[in-house]
Amino acid sequence: MSNTIKTEQASAVMNTYGRFPLEIVKGKGSYVWNDEGNRFLDYTSGIATCNLGHVPEPVQAALKEQLDTLWHVSNLYHIPIQEKLAKLLTENSSLDAAFFCNSGAEANEAAIKIAKKYAKDQGNEARTEIVTFKQSFHGRTGTTLAATAQEKIHQGFTPITPGFRYLPYNDFDVLQEIDNGKTTAVLLELVQGEGGVNIADKAWLKELEKICKEKDILLMIDEVQTGIGRTGTLFAYEQFGIEPDVITLAKGLGSGFPIGSMLAKDGVAASFTPGTHGSTFGGNPLAMTAGYSTVQYILDADILDNVNKISQYFQEKLTELKSSYPAIIEIKGKGLLLGLEMEEGAIEYITALREENVLVLSAGEKVLRLLPPLTTTEEEIDEFIDAFKQVLNEK
Ligand SMILES: *Cc1c(COP(=O)(O)O)cnc(C)c1O
Repeated sequence: MSNTIKTEQASAVMNTYGRFPLEIVKGKGSYVWNDEGNRFLDYTSGIATCNLGHVPEPVQAALKEQLDTLWHVSNLYHIPIQEKLAKLLTENSSLDAAFFCNSGAEANEAAIKIAKKYAKDQGNEARTEIVTFKQSFHGRTGTTLAATAQEKIHQGFTPITPGFRYLPYNDFDVLQEIDNGKTTAVLLELVQGEGGVNIADKAWLKELEKICKEKDILLMIDEVQTGIGRTGTLFAYEQFGIEPDVITLAKGLGSGFPIGSMLAKDGVAASFTPGTHGSTFGGNPLAMTAGYSTVQYILDADILDNVNKISQYFQEKLTELKSSYPAIIEIKGKGLLLGLEMEEGAIEYITALREENVLVLSAGEKVLRLLPPLTTTEEEIDEFIDAFKQVLNEK
């Protein structure tokens, strides 16, 4: 059979990513090194994950200690560090209880499950649907790809999981369609990360929240990318004057250690009882240590203050650049989740910047996505700006 023949070049890793031609072998702070010893300014942060930069010392020290103590026990026992992280997250948010898992998609799976269960527990048997929004991204599992309202993510995977209804983002006209008698929850990002760095309109969001409260529809915010300081507050929802019923976290929570969490208000959290949901690895001591030391350090070291100052500095520099280079159409985003809408395809800029030893991402076809670590400095921003100028000059 031809598909069993191996070629010389074939990788043993499945081809699910269009990989850049770069082997990264080491990281520290805002920089990574390739196998040839070349240094790159990493403004991707492992896709908004290494929020404290690479190998941050407080997390490294905590993990080393935990490595010598206990790696894993099941959730059939109490795990003190899990309690500690849950407490830290709930004390610093308007949510009351946490469920732990291993990724963003799993956190959203937990949110989707609790929304369905909540409606049933309220006696609303007919409420089984979840509304999500165009250009959203909620994950790659069978159910979260269905929650993701992007045609290209669904392609090849039909029939997709039913129970999702997609509406346009930031559209006041569709607010009346939120409740069709079947809706149990809305799930949305406040800055659409993968979908083009689009910010939710505050007035629209307030209206959406009002409808949700009136109809007992859960307001669920996917903070997998925006959470853990990325937008300048510990959670992005704090900047929008809303009180969500559920939020989901993952990317920045463990400084690169796989972890996810779904936080809910008490009245919603009550719907998860023994046997309704679980995860073998979720909440294990290593992941909890990574999460706890990351969040505690962000709070103790005033990292949020740096995000706001640096974001302002970065945006000023980008605005200056935009005024000289018409190739930059628009500067978008919040905190250190920034997007540059370019006249031409983002991929060309990603390649050209890599040749200048700077790593960035895209969000859709034309948006360059800039995700520096929250600890980045003005000097590093200047380094980025110089490299970008070089690239723009060569265009
Ligand atoms: C990355 C991301 C996810 C999926 O997270 P995984 O850890 O890759 O499963 C979900 N929602 C948002 C907003 C994301 O950015």
